[in-house]
Amino acid sequence: MPSNQMIPLLALQSRDLELRKAVLSLQSFPQERERIEGEMAKERQRLESARNNVRESEVLRERMESDAEAAADKIRKLKNQQLEVRKNEEYQALTHEIDSLKLRIDEIEEKEIILLDEIEEEKAALAVTEQAIEKELEAHRKTLARIDADEADFRERLSGMKEDVEGRRAEVDADLLSKYDSLWKQIKRPPVLVPLANHTCGGCHLRVSNEIDAEVQAFNVAYCDSCGRMLFVE
Ligand SMILES: [Zn+2]
Repeated sequence: MPSNQMIPLLALQSRDLELRKAVLSLQSFPQERERIEGEMAKERQRLESARNNVRESEVLRERMESDAEAAADKIRKLKNQQLEVRKNEEYQALTHEIDSLKLRIDEIEEKEIILLDEIEEEKAALAVTEQAIEKELEAHRKTLARIDADEADFRERLSGMKEDVEGRRAEVDADLLSKYDSLWKQIKRPPVLVPLANHTCGGCHLRVSNEIDAEVQAFNVAYCDSCGRMLFVE
């Protein structure tokens, strides 16, 4: 049995350990949020690149149209020129130029028809992608809201745990409490208060000296000579 003064300290330690675990797990909320936000950024990027594909095709189409218009303009000018030329060779040369421009317009128009079909397909695919991505984003937004709510709950519970710890501290002998507090600063891996059984420290599992063992058995405050944890009789 632990000594009477150790019993409230052990109760305090178990609350402190729970509180420590809870505080550590608080870190999981921002980590989880960051992960979700990363996923959302990826989805938005996917959406942006799908929209860019359609935009690029439209830009290409606009360029084709302005090329065709420029060719048509040129044809009009050449025809006006034809009205003014006197020599037959010059007239023929202009006709030749006009014909090749007409051919160019035909080519552009053929390609434009194919491109228009492609744009229609791309737009239909984009609509499907947009819908799917919006659904994903909505699910992520819901997850973020749930994380916020979980964190708020958690923090509320945490403040209850802190109150509990304060209550327990009031029950511990002041001198013992200050020793316990300094151990929490010293020992990297709690618990700081561990049982001694068969001459062995319950923290580092090494054998303690006979003097320490005798102190602990006499219910005096004593520390493991290897790891420095406070010992109690189990
Ligand atoms: Zn030890």
